[in-house]
Amino acid sequence: MAGQFPDWMRRKVTYTADLARTRELLKDLSLHTVCQGARCPNMSECFSRRTATFMILGGTCTRGCRFCAVHKGSPGSVDEGEPARVAEAAYRLGLKHVVITSVTRDDLPDGGANQFVQTIWEIRYRVPQATVEVLTPDFGGNKKAILHVVQARPEVYNHNVETVPRLYQEVRPQADYRRSLELLKLVKETDPRILSKSGLMVGLGESREEVLEVMGDLRKVHCDLLTIGQYLKPGDSHLEVKEYVTPDTYTFYRREGRRMGFQQVAAGPYVRSSYRAEDVFDAEDAP
Ligand code: SF4
Ligand code: SF4
Repeated sequence: MAGQFPDWMRRKVTYTADLARTRELLKDLSLHTVCQGARCPNMSECFSRRTATFMILGGTCTRGCRFCAVHKGSPGSVDEGEPARVAEAAYRLGLKHVVITSVTRDDLPDGGANQFVQTIWEIRYRVPQATVEVLTPDFGGNKKAILHVVQARPEVYNHNVETVPRLYQEVRPQADYRRSLELLKLVKETDPRILSKSGLMVGLGESREEVLEVMGDLRKVHCDLLTIGQYLKPGDSHLEVKEYVTPDTYTFYRREGRRMGFQQVAAGPYVRSSYRAEDVFDAEDAP
């Protein structure tokens, strides 16, 4: 157990009119977001800034990662109207950078890759000036599915390794560390113009050395962007927090990451994969 919630993790949560408006808009368009599905601690901030990360392919995941609050079970059929509604939401929110993720759909032959492609196309049509970031599952290692998404040319292709390989069995039992690295490698080899991105949670019992090893593995597959943030237990049935990682350690990871050649390293207690994702296009470094 990690002990008391430390001072550096405390912060004020504010509720604004824009937060309520964003929530209402998403409800009107019957869209899922990972912000809500995963009970992200940044939701009030991001929704108040009129940003959100769309979660396509429904709200039910076929996998059972033990850190994740997204509902698990048997998902329904693919909603063909969803890509256009995501684009409509991006337009109404005035997004300059649209982040799309999904639940894992091991039940679909292409893992839902085509829904990503359709969503990218709809965004290109409705919000042509926006950049697009996809945060995909591993598609079970299905190369054809991965390439289908790559060929739709998102500006950023994100796939999270989530934790160090030693903890995979406990944290994300149906995933495979090498398979995730292979995905990132394939993206960059196929289209080097796409920025590749990955991220991991800390505070699950990993050591600094293990995190550095993962960072090294990511650089070996030419990963450009990295996020590192504190794991927080989203509900009673989820994994315990083993440690609250200190601000010094995040500074250390940022410094080491830059030294290793990452183009951008966002590391901090509340950094999440999609936190201020748009900053990659208009700031030197995300918080
Ligand atoms: Fe949503 Fe990402 Fe913001 Fe969390 S950090 S609220 S997932 S946009
Ligand atoms: Fe959550 Fe993704 Fe794991 Fe599904 S695959 S349980 S959405 S982290």
